[in-house]
Amino acid sequence: MRTEMTATSAISHACTLPLSDPTDAAKSHSMRPYRPIGMNNKTIRRVVILGGGYAGVMCANRLAGTLRGKVQVTLVNPINSFVERLLLHEVAARADSDSATRHSLTELLNPSVQLVIGSATTIRHDHNEIDGVDSPSGKQWTLQYDDLIYAIGSGAVLDPVPGTREFAFDLSSLEQAHKLRDALAECVAGDSVIVVGGGSTAIEMVSELSVARPDLSLKMITSSVLAPTVSEKARAYIRNAQAMRNVDVIENVSVAEVTPDGIITGSGEHVEGNVVVWAASFAVPSLARDSGLAVDKSGRLLVDASMRSTAHPRILGAGDGAVVTGSAGRTLRMACATAAPQGAHAAQTVIADLKGVEPKPFALRYLVLSLSLGPGDGLIQLTNSDDTPRDFTIKGKTGALFNDLNNRYARVILSWERRRAGSYHWAKPKNHRPENIDA
Ligand SMILES: Cc1cc2nc3c(=O)[nH]c(=O)nc-3n(C[C@H](O)[C@H](O)[C@H](O)COP(=O)(O)OP(=O)(O)OC[C@H]3O[C@@H](n4cnc5c(N)ncnc54)[C@H](O)[C@@H]3O)c2cc1C
Repeated sequence: MRTEMTATSAISHACTLPLSDPTDAAKSHSMRPYRPIGMNNKTIRRVVILGGGYAGVMCANRLAGTLRGKVQVTLVNPINSFVERLLLHEVAARADSDSATRHSLTELLNPSVQLVIGSATTIRHDHNEIDGVDSPSGKQWTLQYDDLIYAIGSGAVLDPVPGTREFAFDLSSLEQAHKLRDALAECVAGDSVIVVGGGSTAIEMVSELSVARPDLSLKMITSSVLAPTVSEKARAYIRNAQAMRNVDVIENVSVAEVTPDGIITGSGEHVEGNVVVWAASFAVPSLARDSGLAVDKSGRLLVDASMRSTAHPRILGAGDGAVVTGSAGRTLRMACATAAPQGAHAAQTVIADLKGVEPKPFALRYLVLSLSLGPGDGLIQLTNSDDTPRDFTIKGKTGALFNDLNNRYARVILSWERRRAGSYHWAKPKNHRPENIDA
């Protein structure tokens, strides 16, 4: 049976588990340079995974199931729920969709994974330790690791546009989706909602809302063209779908400021809105940057093609919070379709290290871009290996069905991996050979 740990149990188990009181941990600080630990070593390898999203859960289940008895996997997440982030627009638009979006981590994780309900606050990479706080009590704890998987995803919008934080709602987390849902519930017929952004999140949000609340006046404002990553034909379909539902799509107009009653465009025009939804960009948490790890300019952990941090090889990254350097990462988007393969690959790197063999470089070939256009309508854009759109789409009810299956697949692979570690496979480019990758 899994141990679900609080700060209190963490401290009381300090002798036997990789958790300890901060004061004890301070006494045992010692530099542990990277070295393969190997199969013959009798010590149990301690792998700590930060984040219970698509990347973290996949990684935990693959590791715990593959290396039974050889690793102790601990997963840290602020709540005991895996949240299907890709359905948050439904949570915001429809009060009845909440429970379908949350799944107990206790049930989703391999039973041998220790679950710590809390948040990491500092990674002390020079001591292979993480400080954090217990979610319910706020008590502090310290975890020690041999390998750390950084999979804390993306979240709060940290856009430089003034007023975003104060006046706009977003879909970065379940909590934010609930706030938006509450604000929308207060809207009366004829009120206006502005969705800022023209990518997948904005399109899915406005589409869902146009069906759930046809009484509202809906606008989408994007600084580029609508859906810049799909084909012309697909874009025309999305434009038409929005027009049929009276969504006013304003393209190539930037938003300079969010105000209490709408937005101000780059050319100074005020557009009225009772609710403004910021769906133009996501930012990553600052944990890696604040902890002195090597990050890109947006704060994503820099990892090589084996998913190891370029500066601290005992730390691996996967999902939205990490970025793969070199050609292996050139076309990767922030998506579940990226996070799950990266989580599995990070696990494979630890497994390879334990076996004393060279880890393989990461490779991924996207097959589709899948979009919900509200209940009963969807668009599946087939893609080339470099993620550019092909001239083939599946639309309408069939598109909605495929999109629904795609979303379910993103979650069920995590359960399958719990039942049979190694069962999840993903598409790779045809010409993929390790020597082609400049990690
Ligand atoms: C509305 C919406 C629609 C989307 N639609 C799609 C889609 O159709 N297809 C697609 O592929 N992608 C879609 N995405 C993107 C997709 O959801 C993300 O790319 C994906 O969730 C990234 O997975 P992850 O594991 O990296 O991070 P997440 O799923 O964000 O999980 C990260 C976890 O880490 C936890 N965490 C954060 N900070 C800490 C900390 N300090 N300590 C411990 N834990 C922490 C978080 O609470 C969270 O549980 C959508 C996103 C949104 C918001």
